[in-house]
Amino acid sequence: MLQLIGHIVKISARRDRTEINAAMVDALLELFSPRRLTIHRCYMTKRKMVVFACAGISPEGRFVRNAYLPDRHYCQPISNNPLLARCAREMSVVMEIQHNGDHRLVFPVMSQDHPLYMVDLILSDDFPADQRISLMGLIEYFGNHIALLDYGEADTLTGLLSRKTFDKHLFELLGQADSDETRFLGTHSDEPLRRKNSTDSCHWLAVCDIDHFKQVNDNFGHLIGDEVLIMIAQVMRQSFRFDDQLFRFGGEEFIALLQPASMESAVSTLERFRHDVEAQRFSRVGHVTVSIGFSQLLPNDTPTDVIDRADEALYYAKQHGRNRIESYEALISGGQLTAKDLNKGEVELF
Ligand code: GH3
Ligand code: MG
Ligand code: MG
Repeated sequence: MLQLIGHIVKISARRDRTEINAAMVDALLELFSPRRLTIHRCYMTKRKMVVFACAGISPEGRFVRNAYLPDRHYCQPISNNPLLARCAREMSVVMEIQHNGDHRLVFPVMSQDHPLYMVDLILSDDFPADQRISLMGLIEYFGNHIALLDYGEADTLTGLLSRKTFDKHLFELLGQADSDETRFLGTHSDEPLRRKNSTDSCHWLAVCDIDHFKQVNDNFGHLIGDEVLIMIAQVMRQSFRFDDQLFRFGGEEFIALLQPASMESAVSTLERFRHDVEAQRFSRVGHVTVSIGFSQLLPNDTPTDVIDRADEALYYAKQHGRNRIESYEALISGGQLTAKDLNKGEVELF
């Protein structure tokens, strides 16, 4: 009992999702000695659910992966794993007896009608029944802690990530860019520069701003304006990949942090979103459009640096017809912008 309370205290003291998962693995390991353990984070995509094995105990030992950056190598469609799929369908704990008699249990951590996490354990067949209550209690506690965190991090109108979580997410990405850089430095000393200047596959930040949104408010009122914001967030969730991070950054301004992609792939993702918004019918309002500016994330960027570059490109898009996407790098190399061109003129739009 005292041990359980000690672990709950440790989990409750953490706000970082990766650290919470690590503390949860330690608690499960010490209290229940599972033979195997995986904490899966669940993501809904347009058509299917994807699970990311973010922490656990494998035959090779304990593993904890960055919970903010789902690594595609450890993500899979839930349909690949029938017991997880059953857990998602039934929205309750499911059990399967392994060929050696061990028990595999999967506990869902639910948010409304879909699982946020699944805790997947293999326990020996002589696992004491009275310990099940403690196990379920701990997982329930974990779910409540995550739900509180989610509540604090989400934008209340749209449910996207809120502005206050942006720096944390960006630093996680930049940290990854840094460590990639360090790895390169350790092995091939001529590589970092090549990588720095390369757009073969890098993170992208896009600032998306609704066109003439003031008119929507003026013509239809603030409540209808808010409905448009909610719908745009929905379109955003459907257009982007499950592992792209989406924020409501300001009133009618959204930010997407794209997972590593080539320039072509970033363009096609953003173009698809722009098109999906244009094609959407908003009740009463009809159609609205968005303008998007985007830029590559560089290893030494501060949040302001990369947002300023994307904003530059957005400003250009606004001045050249709106309902379009513009890349800062392409504008620089095409000569439409100069690298020091940070003067936006007299009108402060954003
Ligand atoms: P542009 O195409 O240049 O972006 O024009 P715009 O009218 O969208 O730009 P502007 O920045 O002038 O106006 C943004 C408007 O967004 C002003 C404000 O009334 C509205 N707005 C900001 N936050 C909210 C919100 O939370 N709800 C609603 N309904 N409106 C908001
Ligand atoms: Mg606007
Ligand atoms: Mg704006």
